[in-house]
Amino acid sequence: MNFLEKRIIKDGKVLSEHVLKVDSFLNHQIDPNLMLEIGKEFADRFANDGVTKIVTIESSGIAPAVMAGLFLKVPVVFARKKKSLTLNGDLLTASVHSFTKNETNEISISKKYVNKEDRVLIIDDFLANGQAALGLVDIVQQSGAKVKGIGIVIEKSFQQGTQILTKQGLRIESIARIASLENGEVTFINEKVE
Ligand code: 5GP
Repeated sequence: MNFLEKRIIKDGKVLSEHVLKVDSFLNHQIDPNLMLEIGKEFADRFANDGVTKIVTIESSGIAPAVMAGLFLKVPVVFARKKKSLTLNGDLLTASVHSFTKNETNEISISKKYVNKEDRVLIIDDFLANGQAALGLVDIVQQSGAKVKGIGIVIEKSFQQGTQILTKQGLRIESIARIASLENGEVTFINEKVE
């Protein structure tokens, strides 16, 4: 088990066969040291990809994305889920259905911050059915920039996201890969193979 998988076993709560709660270190309270380690891991995995920008989505993608940006020495842009007064001018938008909230949001990024010269690493906290990641890919592609890959903190490999994104030729790098949440237990992909 890697550092994140150990932390999930220690502090994660299985809410159902489909949902894992990690409020104590990622989704509500945030552990900065863990975020630093996650950021370093993403930076190592994408070290040779010429990444010029990281794109994530508010709110839980921001902490790991900022840490990855620190190590890769590139700026981080987060897509907003609600239009704000300060987010005006030319926007790139996509529609994203949220797995946990069961609602659809129009997400947006200002055209100012992603352009066709960029090579983008997309980062998010969870990968479930892939809708958030697909929305971000859509926005980045609208800008003319190239998607170099997708960094996921926790991938639930038993849901559809991984397959959908891989089929589109997108590279996914997930730090923890969950094979199952059955019987209230977290089983990781690596454990299953062993
Ligand atoms: P997707 O768009 O891949 O279906 O879902 C990804 C988004 O849903 C993530 O950004 C995350 O916020 C949320 N999410 C999906 N599954 C889980 C889960 O098991 N636990 C938590 N805490 N969030 C999840």
